[in-house]
Amino acid sequence: MAEQRMLDGKVAVVTGSGGGIGRAIAVAMADAGARVVINDIGASLAGEGLSSTPAEQTRQIIEQAGGQAVINTDSVADWSSAQKIVQCALDSFGRIDVVVNNAGILRDVIFHKMSADDWTAVINVHLNGSFFVSRAAAEHFRRQESGAFVHMSSTSGLIGNFGQANYSAAKLGMTALSKSIALDMQRYNVRSNCIAPFAWSRMTSSIPAGTPEQQARVARIQQMTPDKNAPMAVFLASDAARGVSGQVFATRHNEIFLMSSPRPIRGVHRGEGWTPELIAEHALPALKSAFMPLDRSGEVFSWDPV
Ligand code: NAD
Repeated sequence: MAEQRMLDGKVAVVTGSGGGIGRAIAVAMADAGARVVINDIGASLAGEGLSSTPAEQTRQIIEQAGGQAVINTDSVADWSSAQKIVQCALDSFGRIDVVVNNAGILRDVIFHKMSADDWTAVINVHLNGSFFVSRAAAEHFRRQESGAFVHMSSTSGLIGNFGQANYSAAKLGMTALSKSIALDMQRYNVRSNCIAPFAWSRMTSSIPAGTPEQQARVARIQQMTPDKNAPMAVFLASDAARGVSGQVFATRHNEIFLMSSPRPIRGVHRGEGWTPELIAEHALPALKSAFMPLDRSGEVFSWDPV
């Protein structure tokens, strides 16, 4: 008998799997035995244009390895088209077990120049899209009393980055969405987790490489191929991750991290209450030593990927 694989019998929807990290996850899930819906509108990095070619390429890779996949080109960023993505899994394979919210676009602009359209376009794909696709699958997960969500977040949201107010807000919002799903659907045996991935892809290919320092940094990022993020996504989608829910992991080349969630880190109290003056005088000196620095992802992950 063939060896049992981690996702045998499961059906996975992977959004934005026409390239980059999504493709690597779709391929790894198919290798692990899942039947896969490759969802991708084939957009440019900024979210423009439509093409089924990237999704076709992912399907070829999966089929050449003996896996099963279908293509869906509906956008995640709309309630009714997100319903069609999930319906595609049911029509093609008769069930749905896994949703990977990976589709994404970038509209990096410094905050004081960011337009309403830059904001809305990015929130629509990452945050609203993750809600729409998850919500469409939730009906089925609830009925069958099983299911796993994996949402691709980012250290740009968890920690911070320049020029990404739209993206950072969406990506941190996705972690709250994931935790909320984990809380609300625990009773139905449904799990929800986030991965903050690192990879050289077209999303990171705009990082400047003018100076020797920048070139060295880009060379380090280029080592981090998208497939390095896939094993964690496969694991979280599988029954081996039973009991793992509401967590945020980061995957960076051969490193895996569990990320922290906000908790009170220092407190002060006064029986008679506070005035603004007393906050300046008493509370601030006590709290200041525990302030988070105004740092960026690259400063926290400051060492070479291992
Ligand atoms: P990518 O641009 O290669 O892939 C994103 C895919 O999403 C594209 O194929 C695009 O066509 C598709 N897409 C865009 N809008 C869509 C929509 N409305 N509906 C369906 N599909 C749509 O990017 P990537 O680097 O592989 O990133 C994948 C995910 O990982 C993204 O959510 C990204 O924010 C996140 N991420 C990436 C990195 C990194 O280092 N590359 C770091 C942190 C987070």
